[in-house]
Amino acid sequence: MSKDIFVLAEQRDGDIQKVSIELIGEAKRLSKSLDEKVVAVLLGSEIKDKASILTAYGADKVIVVEDPILGEYATEPYAKAVCKIIKEYDPEIVLCGATSIGRDLAPRVSARVHTGLTADCTSLDIDEETKLLMMTRPAFGGNIMATIVCDRHKPQMATVRPGVMKSLEKDESKKGEIEYFDIKFTKEDMNIKIREVVKETKEVADITESKVLVSGGRGIGKAEGFKMLKGLADVLGGEISSSRANVDAGWIEKDYQVGQTGKTVKPSLYIAAGISGAIQHIAGMEESDLILAINKDKGAPIFDIADLGIVGDVNTIIPKLKEAIESE
Ligand code: FAD
Repeated sequence: MSKDIFVLAEQRDGDIQKVSIELIGEAKRLSKSLDEKVVAVLLGSEIKDKASILTAYGADKVIVVEDPILGEYATEPYAKAVCKIIKEYDPEIVLCGATSIGRDLAPRVSARVHTGLTADCTSLDIDEETKLLMMTRPAFGGNIMATIVCDRHKPQMATVRPGVMKSLEKDESKKGEIEYFDIKFTKEDMNIKIREVVKETKEVADITESKVLVSGGRGIGKAEGFKMLKGLADVLGGEISSSRANVDAGWIEKDYQVGQTGKTVKPSLYIAAGISGAIQHIAGMEESDLILAINKDKGAPIFDIADLGIVGDVNTIIPKLKEAIESE
């Protein structure tokens, strides 16, 4: 029986999405316990050149399906292709990014192949005894972390949040097997008409990519507080981010929100300024390499997970930090 781990590789306009690279890295780690292959599934139109990117990041094999119908993501043709591949290859595990595409595709596929799906996972592991995939995700409004196993059906399926898993280093010399899988699509497979694809044009920093984040909570007091944080972020070559409290208050856009209902980040340095440390916030930043918390309340829960802490007023500490770094 196959124990292979399949990763549904996501591409947009032919660009392989970072989450897919992260999932290949994670699948490689998991595959050591199963002693089987990591297979990436790449769907699209004229995308076969991109398969080598997936092998360079660790995929042992890439299954490519190319067809003009797969040019823009649409649920029906993508679900049909993935279901056919699962039926043909019988993988043990199927992983997919918890992106807007993954969140649409994975539930359809799991229902059609009669298996379960654990959505929005933040960590994965293999149980050494049962060899089952342990899928962990926040549950009950983020108050507990639930570990879920799917022991009766195959494949075991999970969507995984972008930004939480570790990619492998790119190694162009690594050549994997590339296999073309032929599927006959019919007109009925495209049950929607894509009239126009409108790309988001607003200038928003991608906080999941930033190595340094200076994150503001309610403790910054007002929307203008982000200007102060931006000043520090600039001297550190980083970006600003936020807790949900400030997004709800309309002080900053949702794209900057870190946490369970925001983005998951893993920078080298995360500065939590005036953030209390609610579990829903921590779920999105606890994997950061170094966490510095600044809070005037020494009992704030953020200090429990911080590597470094400063008890004090953000309005005093942040400008002092900036000044000290500038004078270095
Ligand atoms: P507060 O909890 O109000 O904390 C403000 C902190 O600032 C306090 O610790 C205070 O001591 C400190 N402070 C005040 N003034 C100063 C000062 N001058 N100097 C220094 N420190 C000061 N939250 C998220 O962040 N992300 C999410 O994705 C998210 N998802 C959620 C999903 C659900 C289903 C639910 C129920 C909640 C979610 N929340 C999320 C909200 C979360 O529970 C908290 O309410 C939120 O994180 C609190 O934000 P905060 O720490 O900025 O504010």
